[in-house]
Amino acid sequence: VMAMAAALRGPSGRFRWRTQATAGGVRGSARGAAAGRQDYNLLVIGGGSGGLACAKEAAQLGMKVAVVDYVEPSPRGTRWGLGGTCVNVGCIPKKLIHQAALLGGMIRDAPHYGWDVAQPVLHDWRKMAEAVQNYVKSLNWGHRVQLQDRKVKYFNIKASFVNEHTICGVTKGGKETLLSAEHIVIATGGRPRYPTHIEGALEYGITSDDIFWLKESPGKTLVVGASYVALECAGFLTGLGLDTTVMMRSIPLRGFDQQMSSLVTEYMASQGTRFLKHCTPSRVQKLPDGQLQVTWEDLTSGRENMGTFSTVLWAIGRIPETRSLNLENAGINTSPNSQKILVDAQEATSVPHIYAIGDVAEGRPELTPTAIMAGKLLARRLCGQSLDVMDYSNVPTTVFTPLEYGCVGLSEEEAMARHGEEHVEVYHAYYKPLEFTVAERDASQCYIKMVCLRKPPQLVLGLHFLGPNAGEVTQGFALGIKCGASYEQVMRTVGIHPTCAEEVAKLRISKRSGLDPTVTGCG
Ligand SMILES: Cc1cc2nc3c(=O)[nH]c(=O)nc-3n(C[C@H](O)[C@H](O)[C@H](O)COP(=O)(O)OP(=O)(O)OC[C@H]3O[C@@H](n4cnc5c(N)ncnc54)[C@H](O)[C@@H]3O)c2cc1C
Repeated sequence: VMAMAAALRGPSGRFRWRTQATAGGVRGSARGAAAGRQDYNLLVIGGGSGGLACAKEAAQLGMKVAVVDYVEPSPRGTRWGLGGTCVNVGCIPKKLIHQAALLGGMIRDAPHYGWDVAQPVLHDWRKMAEAVQNYVKSLNWGHRVQLQDRKVKYFNIKASFVNEHTICGVTKGGKETLLSAEHIVIATGGRPRYPTHIEGALEYGITSDDIFWLKESPGKTLVVGASYVALECAGFLTGLGLDTTVMMRSIPLRGFDQQMSSLVTEYMASQGTRFLKHCTPSRVQKLPDGQLQVTWEDLTSGRENMGTFSTVLWAIGRIPETRSLNLENAGINTSPNSQKILVDAQEATSVPHIYAIGDVAEGRPELTPTAIMAGKLLARRLCGQSLDVMDYSNVPTTVFTPLEYGCVGLSEEEAMARHGEEHVEVYHAYYKPLEFTVAERDASQCYIKMVCLRKPPQLVLGLHFLGPNAGEVTQGFALGIKCGASYEQVMRTVGIHPTCAEEVAKLRISKRSGLDPTVTGCG
């Protein structure tokens, strides 16, 4: 027992054992754990989208549950509360700032509809940031209350594995706590990646972990990357009136339909976002006036260029939060390439009673709703309430760029690769949203594409929608596609007039037939 207690002791040699029945502090606790009596039925590491959903569901179904969550401040010192990436530095602040940017466009439209809007209309970043941050803080508080209401014990500690049933958690102040559980769920998500080889990148750059928490406007910004995070951030910065440049080494939105991705960036460029394509930064230096001088290489010409920015935002991908978990102490296997945790269809890791869900799990979409659903289903299985496993096919998503891009199912490239070009039929149309007409907005990139199997009844493999409210439109069609809708069924679906969504039910022109897509719209 003494040897076990020594083994359980953290690096500083101090720990506190949380248990319901421990005779003799450390020694008693260690004996309890060794004898298979655990503090909790379920311990969840990570209080983000997946972890909170799993913990709350399990507690509701009668399990004794604990959640540990700890936010390591960003290299710039930004920190936040309970709720994970989505709530604090992802979906929620992103969508609210996207909304702020869209409002700017509506204010520009307003005079066409008779509104007398004094020009120029100015935007106050400080005011917006404070409102968004206050809302996020209210969500942090809401999550804590929900855990309390459901009798889920919450620990604000950074966890790492001691053995396959025990974790050691460390508080901000360095105090250690040992917790043990029958089942452990890892839901630690990921964090933005910084380039390691670029001088000044870490010192002077920020990431999506910081942008939503800036009190002052970032000013003229260079966004490096071609991910959806890069394009969304560049989109709202441009929409708020800031001079914004995106620097990308290769293609935008890798993994998404490439025709749609080109239209997304084309629209952004038409709205004023500058693009430096096939360029890669090599150095960031701080000038005496505080501005950042960025040196980059143009990969096409081989030439070196320079530019000055107030802010450099890295959006070059994310790394899973597995590095400090000491997974080897529990025998949990990770992918050597991605460092993500390897899981099976039940979300189980290489250790049968330890699971991984959400962004930290290999091969899973990095999206909040999939993390939440996977967490809930896992809790139900652990409680013996259900055998249902998560179905990761046909997960819809939307990129909240100035012209939103929603999709569900396969891209055209994936459909061709999986089914063979001769078996795929693509229907598409450019359309003009009614709301673009009076205000004379350019609708050149408003486009819909449906990728189907060629053989009747032409099962829909993928739907791609570029236009206003893409998330709302795509969510509705996702149900049909999940239920195995065919092209014929979509065509028999009566539209809601006048909407952009009704244009989906009008897609009649076959792309493979070589005809130009019709331009449709409200007439
Ligand atoms: C800018 C941005 C925009 C996004 N927009 C969208 C969107 O519009 N729609 C969408 O569906 N998804 C979006 N996402 C993705 C979404 O936020 C994630 O997929 C989701 O949050 C993943 O949930 P999770 O539970 O896996 O992890 P997270 O939500 O990241 O939660 C993990 C938690 O674990 C904590 N943690 C990590 N290590 C430890 C440890 N050792 N001990 C204790 N706690 C630890 C972390 O601090 C964090 O609180 C966006 C992401 C970003 C970055």
